[in-house]
Amino acid sequence: MAGEGEGPAIGIDLGTTYSCVAVWQNDRVEIIVNDQGNRTMPSYVAFTDKERLVGDAAKNQVAKNPANSVFDAKRLIGRRFSDSLVQNDIKLWPFKVIEGHADKPMIVVTYKGEEKHFVAEEISSMVLKKMREIAEAYLDRPVKNAVVTVPAYFNDSQRKATKDAGGIAGLNVMQIINEPTAAALAYGFDKVTVDKRNVLIFDLGGGTADVSLLIIANSTFKVKAVVGDTHLGGEDFDNRMVKYFIEIFKRRHKKDISGNAKALRRLRTAAERAKKILSSASETTIEVDYLYDGIDFSTCITRARFAELNMDLFKKSIELVEKCLADAKMDKRGVHDVVLTGGSSRIPKVQELLQDFFDGKQLNKSINPDEAVAYGAAVQAAKIAGMGNKKVQDIVLLDVTPLSLGVDAERGLMTVVIPRNTTLPTKMKRKYCTIKDNQTSVFFRVYEGERARAVDNNWLGEFTLSPVPAAPKGVIEIIVCFEIDANGILNVSAVERTTGMSCKITITNYRTSLSTTEINRMIQDAKEYEVEDDEHRKKVRAKEALENYAYKMRNIVNDKEIDEKLDAEGKEKIEAAIKEVIHWLDGIQHVEADEFEEKLVGLVLTCNPIIGKISGQQ
Ligand code: AMP
Repeated sequence: MAGEGEGPAIGIDLGTTYSCVAVWQNDRVEIIVNDQGNRTMPSYVAFTDKERLVGDAAKNQVAKNPANSVFDAKRLIGRRFSDSLVQNDIKLWPFKVIEGHADKPMIVVTYKGEEKHFVAEEISSMVLKKMREIAEAYLDRPVKNAVVTVPAYFNDSQRKATKDAGGIAGLNVMQIINEPTAAALAYGFDKVTVDKRNVLIFDLGGGTADVSLLIIANSTFKVKAVVGDTHLGGEDFDNRMVKYFIEIFKRRHKKDISGNAKALRRLRTAAERAKKILSSASETTIEVDYLYDGIDFSTCITRARFAELNMDLFKKSIELVEKCLADAKMDKRGVHDVVLTGGSSRIPKVQELLQDFFDGKQLNKSINPDEAVAYGAAVQAAKIAGMGNKKVQDIVLLDVTPLSLGVDAERGLMTVVIPRNTTLPTKMKRKYCTIKDNQTSVFFRVYEGERARAVDNNWLGEFTLSPVPAAPKGVIEIIVCFEIDANGILNVSAVERTTGMSCKITITNYRTSLSTTEINRMIQDAKEYEVEDDEHRKKVRAKEALENYAYKMRNIVNDKEIDEKLDAEGKEKIEAAIKEVIHWLDGIQHVEADEFEEKLVGLVLTCNPIIGKISGQQ
């Protein structure tokens, strides 16, 4: 938690493809513009032989450095390397991902000529840190506290890993909230009325799809149900287009470009651009010069063909709406507003399918799909930090558990203790009996998920209740209690009825999570990278200052008016000094900032007395 005295609290939408940061200021939410003048920033981190780049600078150089330009960390975060979705993604990424300790995926890049391994949390932390810096530059003061959003359908491991990423970035993540809930906050914030409204948030982003049904009344935002797919979004549509273009190239030129990372990257960038154009135009042409083997690629794609390539995926997003309504036990006619958010909700075919599903109901496009999530996060951050006005402070968010939570009590079956879509915080109990005669201990595994077989769900932790009194099977009763607090932390306890013997576990650390030692090491690494980044910036600035001064002096001595006033000896001296510096600049390789500074001082000491003399004559 944070108070106003601890500085501003920001809201960060950490997206798969783009991220956005906002803050409550001047009695309203302001979306923060970055150093490029943009309101969103690509979630990219790139490593070169000289420096580390984050955001626009990283995305802009991706075509020439594909293997060391990392994106999509959100698709890896909190997942295992062996996860089939991770395996499929790896095939499409130009950067390398290998299996690390405890089935954790490790991203491999070359940075300053050395091989480096990063977990997804570290890459996300670099994006979060950049968002923090953007906010600090905008607000002109340090920022520590943040609310970070995640897809509603993220499981516990993915949420915990996102929080860890915030910690590595030096942020105090006050709360993790669901993206559609944040979008609902952005939608409902200015419309707080006493009338109860059933609002369906359709959030189709770059990598994930979430559908959430909320009841908004009297400043209370109560989530009724969330469903989602943590692997469905704009990037999947881009991939379909890329595959289509690869086939066209193969047909035309009998060449397969699918193994060429650079060509694929350039094709994907062109595909994404074409996809966006197709949201407003009915056809477009993609053109990539020298795509492969010196061959230029150009082809036309229509909106209809794009829709056909993705129809099954689009329909999958509409199925989520059906499922969400079924979970909320609400008829589609009971929905007052269908609100669109997430960049991919702009796709006309998706909108058409959604509108048809709601029998022609007008869709609500009033919130900015790229900014609404950060906006909502900023409102919640202001509320927690006690920053906003009364309207902010009156807001109550009641979210739900997106996935069922339960145990496997030695039968291999998942028995649910807290069903999905239960309002948080919550406490629920379930009774279990021993399954063998004279059983003296009972072993419980805790899972989350909807699959019947426990092992198909996400393992969260395990515990043993021991000893329990020996008795025929089914006689000994154990009450298992699950409690989730407002921060989403799950506490599990079990009590044997006759003896009162009990045990307790807090589910905070599990197999795919980072240990405290690992997080501390990463915080240390992040600091080192920051020092290196600062050194690099200093070096670039020092080099620039030297170059600028040298060229300025050259222009001065070449200026006719000044030339006339300079004596031949002075001019020669300056020209020789400039020539020497430019020659040195052309030949240097690894030079530190202070060497540039020394050279600059030398040049200034030569030029200034001579130039100063003629300035005095003027
Ligand atoms: P988000 O995760 O909400 O930032 O959404 C980003 C995704 O939206 C990316 O896959 C973008 O390519 C996609 N996107 C942004 N603008 C458009 C558009 N006009 N038409 C289709 N997709 C878009």
